[in-house]
Amino acid sequence: MKNLRLISMLFILFAFANLFSNDIVGKVIAVKDGDTIEVLQGKETYRIRLFGVDCPEKNQAFGNKAKQFTSDKCFGKKVTVRVNNKDMNGRYVADVILPDGNNLNVLLVKNGLAWHYKAYSKDKNLAKLEESARKNRIGLWADKNPIAPWDFRKGKKPDYTVSKKEGKYIASKNSKKYHKKSCKQAKEIKSANAIYFKDKNDAKKAGYAPCTYCKP
Ligand SMILES: [Zn+2]
Repeated sequence: MKNLRLISMLFILFAFANLFSNDIVGKVIAVKDGDTIEVLQGKETYRIRLFGVDCPEKNQAFGNKAKQFTSDKCFGKKVTVRVNNKDMNGRYVADVILPDGNNLNVLLVKNGLAWHYKAYSKDKNLAKLEESARKNRIGLWADKNPIAPWDFRKGKKPDYTVSKKEGKYIASKNSKKYHKKSCKQAKEIKSANAIYFKDKNDAKKAGYAPCTYCKP
């Protein structure tokens, strides 16, 4: 009898704790992109925007990779959503805790699949993880001049041009070296893969290094 009372008291306590907690616990039923998912709790579907991080857009480099990563980590799984606030679009801005206890937001930045969203987050750990991913050129940081998703959404163009038709220097889309057109290696580039730069500066900005053979 005494035990029963204790159990019911604990039960009430937990019910209250849940009432005051902002957590959403449920199954991930959709992954919209790397930083936006949908979670089903009971009969309610919640749109979640990951807090403090910003993944490349779908039509940006690494946009699909970020989406795939998030999908692999949480789709169909039960997660704990630690809500920070609700945004203008009615989405819950939150940290997503995976079944293994890892924080999805953190993992995305660590793996170079998201930027630390500095405009909305002062998180020192995220800042540090981004710095380290940049330095080690992990994920999207393999590109020397990746465009921040917030700039991309504003329609900002890269400050260099890559041409599919003409330019002083040639490179393959699949490598990270650029050549003089006369280079032996340049002649092996298939026309479908060929890209051109008007000058060395553009090649450099696009993340290409000079070929050590033709030394452009
Ligand atoms: Zn070359």
